[in-house]
Amino acid sequence: MIRVLLGLALLAGLAWLAMFAADQPGTVTINWMGYRIQASLVALALAVVAVIVLIWVVARLWSWLRGGTPMSPQKRALRKSKKGLSEVDAALSALAAGDARKALSLGQAAIKHLDGAGVAYVVSAQAATALGKTELADEYFDALAQTPQGKFLGLRGRVSEARRLGHVSKALALAEDALEEAPRSDWAIATAFELETKLGKWADAETTLRKATAKSIFDADTSARHLGAIRYGEALKARDDDRPADAARLAKQALAVRPDFAPAAVLAAQLYKAAGKLRAASSILQKAWKLGPKPSLAESYAALNPMETAEARLDRFKALVKPIPDHPESRLRLAEAALGANDFTLAEETLKPMLDGLPRARVGLIMGQVATARDDGAAVRAKWAELAQRGAPEPSYTCSVCFTQRLHWTSHCPTCDSCNSFEWDLSPAPGAGLLARDELHLVGTANPALAPPAAAAQPPTVAGSAVPTAPQDQASQDDADATPSEAIDVSAEAKAS
Ligand SMILES: [Zn+2]
Repeated sequence: MIRVLLGLALLAGLAWLAMFAADQPGTVTINWMGYRIQASLVALALAVVAVIVLIWVVARLWSWLRGGTPMSPQKRALRKSKKGLSEVDAALSALAAGDARKALSLGQAAIKHLDGAGVAYVVSAQAATALGKTELADEYFDALAQTPQGKFLGLRGRVSEARRLGHVSKALALAEDALEEAPRSDWAIATAFELETKLGKWADAETTLRKATAKSIFDADTSARHLGAIRYGEALKARDDDRPADAARLAKQALAVRPDFAPAAVLAAQLYKAAGKLRAASSILQKAWKLGPKPSLAESYAALNPMETAEARLDRFKALVKPIPDHPESRLRLAEAALGANDFTLAEETLKPMLDGLPRARVGLIMGQVATARDDGAAVRAKWAELAQRGAPEPSYTCSVCFTQRLHWTSHCPTCDSCNSFEWDLSPAPGAGLLARDELHLVGTANPALAPPAAAAQPPTVAGSAVPTAPQDQASQDDADATPSEAIDVSAEAKAS
């Protein structure tokens, strides 16, 4: 409303001005470059307005010719980029439908139409990856990394590609480039940490871990878990470099930040045992058992004295399980030791509370051996054999990311490559119950007559396919390495000291 009023006022003002000028006598004369123009004031004003309108019309016409016609450069560029974007859409749909070949050809067309825009390279690289054309995928990621906005994204793609192919050193070098490009990127920091850990670059991994913790990429628990794994990795390295004292110190440091970390407890116990400090070794394993009983701890505990009598072993296992006698793993280990010492009543009584619900296969295995040793009837033996076959399987280490299960801890998941993702989990591994035969054999060596037949069963998950430098819980292997010359009577030493 105010605008209309102002417009009307302006028009009225201009009309009045025109009338006033027309009423004035006289003319305006212009002398310019030898020309002489003489006109009334109104005529001159009208001429000026006409020139302004003409300039405006010409300018508009020029602008339409440049940008408005179908053949103008802008219109052509717009059409091209629209086509490229629709090709990217179609390529994504083709990828989702599993037609990587079509996706790749659409992606390649989009690269042309979008003048090498990042999104076209990304979709082409994905299609090339899906087709197994890894070099081509790497080329696209590399091209993406050359674009000003796509450098980080391209490096990230190349890191993923290198990791997928198992080229860990190359992946780390690329991750370091990405970190330089975006020093505050959570992804770059976490990835560099994972790769440094995988390569056993413990000092670098610790520096990166501190950076990640300061940035709250890892919470306090996760940081402690990672630091424990770093110390354990350093301890393994020191042991392999023949620095047993350093190795033992580092394994203890791993336990200080992560007290229930069984692989570190097993390693520390082995090192103390090798140094003749059996009492300290035994104490480390007992402490770890109290915090979380695991088969590797029991195996390592048994291996402290492989030549002891069955009765001495039973006494030692009574001491081991004393703090948590009702834990299923405690009951199983005590029952095994009792079986070895021919104390069938103790074995039976210990396992009785485990017979409710679906008992674990190992209960059937031990009870079956008790029945055989006592020469129970065929029906009783068949009952336990049935449980040994069909009972609930054993707990295992489970990857918190992809749920792969393993009997022994490893720093990187062989399936999804996650770092320090294995947690001891009571959900059973498929078929793990069959492994009970081997584990039973380790503890029950004192009575060869009762030793079960060699098991044909294989571990439930693929083991050992990870990079060799990845630290692993090596309890079983080291048990096998134990020689009679290392055998020392723990109880004798305990009494002496
Ligand atoms: Zn995993």
